[in-house]
Amino acid sequence: MRKKIVAGNWKMNLDYAEGISLFSEIVNMVRDEQKGDQLAVICAPFIHLNSLAKLGGATVKIGAQNCHQKESGAFTGEVSAKMIKSVGCDYVIIGHSERRQYFSESDQLLAEKTAIALKNDLTPIFCIGETLDERNNGSYFDVIKGQLVNGVFSLSGEEFSKIVLAYEPVWAIGTGLTATSDQAQEVHAFIRQEIASKYGESIAEGTTILYGGSCNPKNAAELFAQKDIDGGLIGGASLKSRDFTDIVKTFN
Ligand code: 13P
Repeated sequence: MRKKIVAGNWKMNLDYAEGISLFSEIVNMVRDEQKGDQLAVICAPFIHLNSLAKLGGATVKIGAQNCHQKESGAFTGEVSAKMIKSVGCDYVIIGHSERRQYFSESDQLLAEKTAIALKNDLTPIFCIGETLDERNNGSYFDVIKGQLVNGVFSLSGEEFSKIVLAYEPVWAIGTGLTATSDQAQEVHAFIRQEIASKYGESIAEGTTILYGGSCNPKNAAELFAQKDIDGGLIGGASLKSRDFTDIVKTFN
């Protein structure tokens, strides 16, 4: 059975006090809502990570939203995977479309970040997804395949089986425009099939693939009911404890 995950991505929101307060609420609310292979994760800005891990890391796993691709050194302003691990994180988002778009992160760079995250015992949540143009001109399968091949398919089978994927169509992020459950399932099935061709059925069946993009308490149940959708990567709705908890409860 693959893990079911609801991961919040707070992006660049919440000052320190606001983050502590929201996280405390979330921990209290989801405490009794997780079962078996189900996990709630919060991916917060760097300044929150240490405190959140201490406050409730046993109930809600903690993740960063990015890491540097090198082990350490003269990279002013950057944060390494080792540092992230050292404050109690288990996850790190890699290749979010906002990093690809606004910080020009290439597939090659993201492959390096994935490798260093794994080396430091962090689970990468590796994001892929097409833009609106790519959706409309029908090239989205090629785009997604390219992101897989160049971003994560150089991993060994053993390494690959440790990562989580997130399909986030760029046109659905923060727009209120969710992919329909059919649209999302179609791409998730395609991703799983590509994994099977590369690594075999068993690894493909074991890979957790999250959906992200305007996921909320109203649409989560239908999305998560799809055969190849194993949970969500939640932006806006993760900034409200009730909404995030309701999405976590969707699995119950
Ligand atoms: P929204 O849920 O706000 O659309 O953001 C999705 C996202 O980018 C999660 O990483």
